[in-house]
Amino acid sequence: MNNKNRYDAIIIGAGIGGLVCGCYLAKAGHRVLIIEKNDRPGGCCVTFKRKGFRFDAGAHILGSCGRHSVLSNILRRLNIDQEFVRMEPAERFFFGYDEYEVPANIREYITYLQDKFPLEKKGIKDFFDKLIHIARNINSSRIEYDKITYEDLLNKNFNDIRLKSVLSAQIGYLGITPNRISAVAMCAMMASYLKDGTYYPMGGAGLVSDKLADRFKSLGGEMRLRAEVAGVITDDSGSAVVKVKSGRGNAVEFYGGAVVSDIDIGRLFRDLIPRSSMHNTIKRNLSVSEPTPSLAILYLGVELDKKVIKKKVGWHYPDYDVNINLDDCLYISSPSLYDESAAPKNMSAMEVFQIWDFPGKSGAADYKKYKKEIERKMLEKVVGIIPDIKDSLVVIDSATPVTIERYTANRNGAAYGWAMTPGQYDRNDIMSDGLADAGIYLVGHWTNPGGGVLAAAISGYSVSRKMITDGVFKGAAVKI
Ligand SMILES: Cc1cc2nc3c(=O)[nH]c(=O)nc-3n(C[C@H](O)[C@H](O)[C@H](O)COP(=O)(O)OP(=O)(O)OC[C@H]3O[C@@H](n4cnc5c(N)ncnc54)[C@H](O)[C@@H]3O)c2cc1C
Repeated sequence: MNNKNRYDAIIIGAGIGGLVCGCYLAKAGHRVLIIEKNDRPGGCCVTFKRKGFRFDAGAHILGSCGRHSVLSNILRRLNIDQEFVRMEPAERFFFGYDEYEVPANIREYITYLQDKFPLEKKGIKDFFDKLIHIARNINSSRIEYDKITYEDLLNKNFNDIRLKSVLSAQIGYLGITPNRISAVAMCAMMASYLKDGTYYPMGGAGLVSDKLADRFKSLGGEMRLRAEVAGVITDDSGSAVVKVKSGRGNAVEFYGGAVVSDIDIGRLFRDLIPRSSMHNTIKRNLSVSEPTPSLAILYLGVELDKKVIKKKVGWHYPDYDVNINLDDCLYISSPSLYDESAAPKNMSAMEVFQIWDFPGKSGAADYKKYKKEIERKMLEKVVGIIPDIKDSLVVIDSATPVTIERYTANRNGAAYGWAMTPGQYDRNDIMSDGLADAGIYLVGHWTNPGGGVLAAAISGYSVSRKMITDGVFKGAAVKI
C-alpha cells in the first residue's frame, strides 16, 4: 500500500458538514483527506461574481451566529474569525397586501404579535414558551411530539388563520408545508432564527466555506478538488479504499482508517458502496424516504435605491394559506443591504428564491429554454412586487433545480436533505445504523439534525467528536 495515499480519515464532499468535520479531526492531530468533485469547497454554500456583483449561490441567511451561539462557537474554536451582520428586522412577511415585520428580539416579537392579535394574547405567550422548550429539549421532544406536525401544534394554540400563517411563514427554510413538517423540526429552526436573530456573513456565505477550507489546510489537512469519488470498499486489512475517477479512466485509490460521507446518502449507497453490503434497514429506508424539494434562484444586479429594495426583502405569499401557497412564495434577499461589497456603488445585488420541482426527463431537454422560462416567470413576479426593477437590471442570471443537482449531486436538487416530516425526522439516525461498524460516518444535511448550514455544521462537529472518542481510525470491523 502506498503510504502517501493513506489517511486516518477520508471525507467525501467539501460541503459545510465535511469541512467542519475535517477541521476538527485535523485539529485533533489526525491525517485527513477531503475529496471534492467541484473546483472549490462549499457545496450549497458558495459565492460567485458577475459584473462586479457578488451573489450567494445557495445558502445566504444563517442562524446561531451571535457571540455565544452554536455556529459562532464552532468557528471560533477553530480560530476562524468571521463577521456576521445581524439583520434588522430579522424577517418580513407579506401575505397579499398585508405585511408583518419580525424584530430581531424574540420578546419584542411576542409583544408585536400580541398587539396585532389581541384575542390570541395568552396563546401567543404559551406557544413561544412551548417552542423554546421543544428546541431546548430536542431529544425528549422528538419522543413527546413524535407524530405531531407543526400545523397540529398551531391548531392546539390558535384560531386565527392569519396568526397561524405568520407563525408559519419561515417554513420555506425547510421546504415543506406546515401540515407536513415535524413540529419539533420547525420549532428548532424557528428558535434558532428568532432567539438569536438572522445573520448575513460579511464577504458572502462562500467566504465561510473558504475560511473553513483554509483552516483545514493550515491544520495539516489535505484537499483534492476536481476529484469525484466513484466507489468505496474495504480491503483485507480493514482499510477503506476510496476510488477517485481520474481523467485518464483509471481510478486513483486512497486508503482511510475511516470514511466520512458528506454527500447524498442515497447516492452513497446506490452508486459508491456495493449494494450487497447494505444494511437492510438502510435499503428499506432509502426506498421510501422523501427528499426536500429543490429551488430556483434568480440572481439580479440592479441600479436601484437600496431603500426601495429593503422594504420588499422577505417572504412574499400570495395570500394567507401557506399550505397551498408555499410553492408560489418568493423569498427576496439582498446581500448588499448588509454588506456593501456585494455590489458596485449605488447598485444592489438581489437573490430571489422559489421552491421549484425537479423536471422530469423531458422537462429540461432543451435546457436553455427551460432556464429562460424559469427566469421569465420569476422576474415577472419580482416586477409585480418591485415594478422599478424592470428598467434597472444590470445583471440577470439564475440557477435551476438541475443546476443544484449538477453542482452538489444532491438528488433532484434537494435543497435541505430529507423532508423533515414527523416520520422521517428521526430516520436520519436510523440511516446511520450499521455504518460505523463498516468505518463509514455520515455528516451533512441528509443526517442529524437535518437541513441548513447550522445543522450541517453541527453534524460535522458531533461526528468528529464521536470518531475521536471512539478512536475509529485503524480500520473497519466489518468489510464492505
Ligand atoms: C439554493 C439554496 C439556498 C439555501 N439557503 C440556505 C440559507 O439561507 N440558510 C441555510 O442555513 N441553509 C440554506 N440552504 C441549505 C444549506 O445550504 C445546506 O443544507 C447545507 O449547506 C448542506 O451542507 P452539506 O454539508 O450537507 O453539503 P452539500 O452542500 O450538499 O455539499 C456536498 C458536497 O459534496 C460534493 N460531492 C458530492 N458527490 C461527490 C462525490 N462523489 N465525490 C466528491 N465530492 C462529491 C459536492 O460537490 C458538494 O460540494 C440552502 C440550500 C440551497 C440549495
